[in-house]
Amino acid sequence: MTDPLAPEPTPSVVRRTPVPPSVSQPVATPLWPSVVYRATDADELDRIYEGELPGYSYAREGHPNADVLAAKIDRLEGRRLGGPAGIVSSSGMAAVSAVLLGLLRAGDHVAAGNQLYGRSLRLMTSDLPRMGFATSLFDPTDAASVEAALTPATRLILVEVVSNPTLRVADMEAIVALGAQRGIPVVVDNTFTTPRMYQPLTQGADVVIHSVTKLLGGHADVTLGYTAADDPDLAAAIRTAAVTWGVAPSPFDCWLAERGLHTFEVRYDRAEANAVAVADALAGLDGVRAVLYPGRTDHPDRARAAKLFGSRTGNMVSFVLDGGRPEVNAFLRAAAAIPFAPTLGDVATTISHPASSSHRALTAEAREALGMPEGFIRLSVGIEDADLLIDELTAAVRASQ
Ligand SMILES: *Cc1c(COP(=O)(O)O)cnc(C)c1O
Repeated sequence: MTDPLAPEPTPSVVRRTPVPPSVSQPVATPLWPSVVYRATDADELDRIYEGELPGYSYAREGHPNADVLAAKIDRLEGRRLGGPAGIVSSSGMAAVSAVLLGLLRAGDHVAAGNQLYGRSLRLMTSDLPRMGFATSLFDPTDAASVEAALTPATRLILVEVVSNPTLRVADMEAIVALGAQRGIPVVVDNTFTTPRMYQPLTQGADVVIHSVTKLLGGHADVTLGYTAADDPDLAAAIRTAAVTWGVAPSPFDCWLAERGLHTFEVRYDRAEANAVAVADALAGLDGVRAVLYPGRTDHPDRARAAKLFGSRTGNMVSFVLDGGRPEVNAFLRAAAAIPFAPTLGDVATTISHPASSSHRALTAEAREALGMPEGFIRLSVGIEDADLLIDELTAAVRASQ
């Protein structure tokens, strides 16, 4: 080790300065923005590429902040140590793309849930067909519908555990069993449920995907994704696609998301307790036609939710306001202290209105058929005081009517 007080070893300020030696270690994770890593000689670089020595070469191929973040999400997902590490990507959609690009071959068919996140649904109905992949959609709450969607060419099943925004619960046991029986990888987008509620890989699924942008990052200031597979061949195929197609995450985003993850479990538990209280309060109000929350006894999939999630019920609450667009606008204006913003998973509560955002491309009739009339409102419940939230929402519902 060189003496940090020794004269600067580089003959030019243009050249990089070595990191000062230190026997003490930083407590917080350092940020490593470096795009490249230098090796001592060509043999050492060879051994880094072959995985014989720990190290990095070029940031698109991997960097320490992504690895620190991946290891934390791996742990949350209950993954065994020593398996292939999770892969962090520049967004949740980048993770979906890496999985599709890594696992599909020409001629393959994809079966997917019919209420996926809007952009995932677009991949199924528009982009994959444009590239020559056949796709079919199924009702994930109905095992017969899933089975009917499979063909001899099906190479991938993509499903979300809890649907957006109607919060229906997929028949995960049947879907995972069908995938195993037919040798089709089951890919689960676990964004809404989070590993606090459901851990797909421990329940027999093959690939898990997250939009880290949402509850895991938790502060609405980072756009990132994550995906992982326990099978080394699946994991390697996805990692190669992620590196080649360039969905690499920024070190700063990984650093921020890792910071957010320290409080994920306490944030999640508090938001869920708030959601239970909010769902019950809304259900008692005049002007609220229906409340959709997997924790309530009137939820259509209550028994399945209890079986899959135990006592967990999530932070997402949807409800149907009596009336149409004027009542929705009056509600949103009266609830102005709660941001009307088309996202979820922030520390503070946000409100969204699918008919004017995520599902605006559908006709009113098509939305109605999915159980989403004009008065349908979705809450991503945050960690603020439950009484404050209930007071604000109650006043806004009254103002709307
Ligand atoms: C937001 C979201 C995505 C996409 O994630 P981005 O980080 O916005 O790309 C995918 N799936 C679900 C369920 C989501 O909520």
